Amino acid sequence: MRALVISDIHGNLEALNAVLAAAGEWDALWNLGDMVGYGASPNEVLDTIRPLATLTVRGNHDRVCSGLSSSLAFNPVARTAARWTLAALTPDNLVWLRMLPQGPLPPEGVDDVTLSHGSPLHEDQYIHTMRDAWASFQQMTTAITFFGHTHVQGGFSQQQHNWHELKPRYDRKQDADTWTLTMPEGTRHLINPGSVGQPRDYDWRAAFAIYDSEAREVVYHRVPYDLRRAQSRILMARLPGRLAERLREGR
Ligand code: ZN
Repeated sequence: MRALVISDIHGNLEALNAVLAAAGEWDALWNLGDMVGYGASPNEVLDTIRPLATLTVRGNHDRVCSGLSSSLAFNPVARTAARWTLAALTPDNLVWLRMLPQGPLPPEGVDDVTLSHGSPLHEDQYIHTMRDAWASFQQMTTAITFFGHTHVQGGFSQQQHNWHELKPRYDRKQDADTWTLTMPEGTRHLINPGSVGQPRDYDWRAAFAIYDSEAREVVYHRVPYDLRRAQSRILMARLPGRLAERLREGR
């Protein structure tokens, strides 16, 4: 099976369209949540992704932007965006967001894979460091967990006492880049496909991953998208200007 794995679209329609165009054919689309919040196209993103996603796990912004929990824990910019999104969502998209299941969840058709938004322990918990990863590895019941939330593409691998942080190495000589990771039998992995719509790893290009279950392989991707258009939508919606700026900085 070939699965397109995406996370953290955050209302960025231009980035989502670029990812879908670059992903080629896939058998399943696994969506790790945070489809809305920050970006100016929440309904357009949901209308695009809803019919395509095979399995979607809820993200913390999906929860807060649909009014299921308070935005008070967010920083002021995120809170402003969450309130704007809640007011902008169509009734149908609002209901759909509220019904989303919380991870971790196993996708159908493959063994040994779990999907979660934050760590497998909690949707709000970040996996940034080896220490965070260690705690998650203790709880993982499958060899592979796909997660998002940090907006940083990469992950962690474990083989007995050997631990590695994974960071795609791109040559950046072309507009679009790929980096392939093979996962031999006996290894365990936490894989972050990166953020489609608001990367924070100093690379502005939209991030995603393709998982091939037969080859036991993950291919990380970066693709350029119409950044100017996504930025001007944010400014025209009168969302905080910082949300437009950070897209170009990739942080
Ligand atoms: Zn997010």
